[in-house]
Amino acid sequence: NTVFDILTIRKDFPILNRKVNGEALVYLDNAATSQTPKMVIDAIVDYYSRYNSNIHRGVHSLSQEATEMYEEARLKIQKHFNASKSHEIIFTPGTTYGINLVANGFSALLNKGDEIIVSALEHHSNIVPWQMLCERTGAVLKVIPMDLDGKLVMDEYHNLLNPKTKLVFCNHVSNALGTINPIKEIITAAHKVGAAVLIDGAQAAPHIKADVQQLDADFYVVSGHKMCGPTGVGILYGKEEWLNKLPPYQGGGEMIAEVTFEKTTYADLPHKFEAGTPNISGGIAFGAALDYMNTIGFDAIAQYEDELLKYATDQLLTIEGLKIYGTSSEKTAVVSFNIEGIHPYDIGSILDKLGIAVRTGHHCAQPIMDFYKIPGTVRASFSFYNTKEEIDVLVAGVKRAKAMLT
Ligand code: PMP
Repeated sequence: NTVFDILTIRKDFPILNRKVNGEALVYLDNAATSQTPKMVIDAIVDYYSRYNSNIHRGVHSLSQEATEMYEEARLKIQKHFNASKSHEIIFTPGTTYGINLVANGFSALLNKGDEIIVSALEHHSNIVPWQMLCERTGAVLKVIPMDLDGKLVMDEYHNLLNPKTKLVFCNHVSNALGTINPIKEIITAAHKVGAAVLIDGAQAAPHIKADVQQLDADFYVVSGHKMCGPTGVGILYGKEEWLNKLPPYQGGGEMIAEVTFEKTTYADLPHKFEAGTPNISGGIAFGAALDYMNTIGFDAIAQYEDELLKYATDQLLTIEGLKIYGTSSEKTAVVSFNIEGIHPYDIGSILDKLGIAVRTGHHCAQPIMDFYKIPGTVRASFSFYNTKEEIDVLVAGVKRAKAMLT
């Protein structure tokens, strides 16, 4: 019982018409990157066709138009995530950059022996920058463990927190398993010991409309390309007081107030963190992507994707020897699985021959794979433009792969 008109929605995505290896494309790698609706593609074409120009410094009309559109996108993003101030939204090239910006900034604020907590469910991009930060500062990394369902062991988290804890990092949704983490509880508890919290919203943002004020997150990072926007653009939300405390990440044009060879003063937020010419069309198109998704509505999207998740889970579990990793009742539309005795890569390769795009491997989350003692999984991740018929094609494909490989 679908809550919206899926066939009309699918018409918005030109790529869904193409064939791969002679078969109709079944795109189930949405957790890696989502597909792009025509109105977002049009926003990019429109920018380059009509008002391509550098922003913020031009007196001429094109530059002013481009600046207005770029800043309007920032306002749309502010509204979407309910940030209280537009200068708390920093444009970045993506989640990875936003995390590195914050990790770099905290070099100046941490001392030897301070503690940083990360979760066992992190993407490498939310592990490595913190390890590098610990190397620079002598801070110590602690890990919230996970259980077999792919959930964080919250009692252990509460035990880890202490007055030495300065930072906590956790993803809102795990990309490898789809688990939705209890970030409100994580943030509230961290604040009790005076620690700041960065939430990696890369996987949550396409499914859940996060309200950064309600969550009381100190930092929240996302990538545009996972939510119907283009690659190479994302945002870092940061509370004003934290963004003022952190030093700039990159030096260059746009981020200064005054420069002499003796001393440079930095521009106000958000420009302090936006050195150089940004991805202008990308920022504008990211705004268009949010417009598009909000028109469909995040509640409707979540409800439909939950139906897809339930259907895919039930259907895949009819295959003997198939095991799903990540069995929390709180999860987004991701099914990570293996079939006994078969390498995930082999299943993925056969599915590709059938036009089905899934991801295989460790999903940039090797610690999770080590926990389950597996080399990786096959991951099918669904979006609101997928259909039950496509899931049927996936299930038939997996059955065929199993028959060929055993
Ligand atoms: N965190 C999570 C949870 C992710 O899924 C991803 C993308 N796979 C990233 C961070 C990194 O995002 P990006 O590559 O867009 O910087």
